[in-house]
Amino acid sequence: MRRIAIVGGGISGLSHAYFWKQKHPEDKIVLFSGAKIGGNIATEIFEDAILEPGPDSYLERNGLFTKMVAELGLSNELLTENNKNAKRYILKDGYLASAPKSPGGLITTSLLFFPEKFRIFFAMGKKFSLWPTITLFDAARNVLGISAAEYLASPFARGVYGSEAEDLEFSSLFPKLYTHIVNAPKLKQGLKEYNRERKEFWAAQLPEVSFKRGIYSFKGGLITWVQAIEKSLRASGIEIIQDKISRIDKSTALHTLASKTKPYGEFDRVVFTGSAADIGYVFRDFDKEFSRKIAEIKFSPINVVYNAWARKDFSQNGYGFLVPRKERAPILGTIYASNVFSGRIGDDKFLTKTMISGDSEVFKDAELASITEESIARIFKTRAKPLWSKVFRHAPGIPRYAPGYGEWKKEIGTLIAKHDGVRLAGWMVSGIGLADQLETAYTHAIEE
Ligand SMILES: Cc1cc2nc3c(=O)[nH]c(=O)nc-3n(C[C@H](O)[C@H](O)[C@H](O)COP(=O)(O)OP(=O)(O)OC[C@H]3O[C@@H](n4cnc5c(N)ncnc54)[C@H](O)[C@@H]3O)c2cc1C
Repeated sequence: MRRIAIVGGGISGLSHAYFWKQKHPEDKIVLFSGAKIGGNIATEIFEDAILEPGPDSYLERNGLFTKMVAELGLSNELLTENNKNAKRYILKDGYLASAPKSPGGLITTSLLFFPEKFRIFFAMGKKFSLWPTITLFDAARNVLGISAAEYLASPFARGVYGSEAEDLEFSSLFPKLYTHIVNAPKLKQGLKEYNRERKEFWAAQLPEVSFKRGIYSFKGGLITWVQAIEKSLRASGIEIIQDKISRIDKSTALHTLASKTKPYGEFDRVVFTGSAADIGYVFRDFDKEFSRKIAEIKFSPINVVYNAWARKDFSQNGYGFLVPRKERAPILGTIYASNVFSGRIGDDKFLTKTMISGDSEVFKDAELASITEESIARIFKTRAKPLWSKVFRHAPGIPRYAPGYGEWKKEIGTLIAKHDGVRLAGWMVSGIGLADQLETAYTHAIEE
């Protein structure tokens, strides 16, 4: 029997414990969750609304989530994205234009000029040798043209990563896609191979699972999922300790962990899933070089503002809109939260969730709320006022896969590999979305 420590009770730590137990039932697992289970997932009830200060939906792409939800007995709690409101918009010249939902949509979209649509068509037959540190913006410009960089890559970067496309490294956002593109004789072949590889891997892992690609949440918000995982972990004998690990050391052969007040003994494997600052602190005396290196990662501070409006003042359909940098609006984008999943607020109201980048310290809550209110009023061309606003801040923010991140990750990997049995996971190293955390936890468990 091995002793396994998983440090961090966000979705990464929870799913590591979950899949590890499934694949290695004989192991004794301890999850150190810190004070709050769920990490960024922190659903809150406010007035008559269900708010998600952090993530609000899971993008199912391979069946892993569907399988987990069924195992947890949550299928009846699941909410699927409302198909009537599937349309996404991008702000262009002050107006909302439909965003393409598939490669075919690139031909019909009004976001690109006509000659650029031809360019994309011809790009499919060309080879691209993108350098590893190329930014998302330049990769899009080189392959698809300037409008695609400004009106597709830029809003995508801002909406998903809270960063500018100029500040993100393409090969780090999409490592496997990057490798396929640079190695394929034609872009089209690279894309095809990339999709085939992903599909085949997951079809082999989850042969019995049938699933529908798309965006999901739960009637009570994503916290329902966290609570169900926690319950299942406890039922399967996993010990959950709400303490913060503050020190790692090594006894004869194994690593030992301790909090400020308590030693927790030796472990055969330790998985760290927290932020750079947390992990760097734990390693401060044990491995100074690693501790210093991990602190070099950058973050994009992000603020979230929810607004409730009278439904009679808003007839908007769709999922929401993203704002490219070129439009110079102070917000990154807005999700029409009450359109996406039913039951998020009373039927007489329209609920919006807006992301604003920037240093949390600089703006007061009231300023963030009024920036949001003015931006939405201008874009929707309305004088309506929100019934209420609620501001959430995320510091240090979203890990930024900036140019140079790939090199940093390699160096971090080399340094951590010196400590046999210690691994890193979580959104700082495994990809930015919830699905990335689940998939990494699953692959780590099958590799062990
Ligand atoms: C505003 C916002 C919106 C987002 N929207 C989406 C979305 O809609 N869909 C999506 O897929 N993704 C979204 N994301 C990304 C998603 O939130 C992350 O992928 C995910 O939460 C990362 O989980 P994690 O477990 O790696 O980290 P975290 O959620 O940060 O959890 C880490 C946990 O570890 C704990 N910890 C750290 N150090 C220690 C220690 N020494 N001992 C014990 N515990 C420790 C921390 O306290 C924390 O609870 C969003 C993120 C933000 C900020």
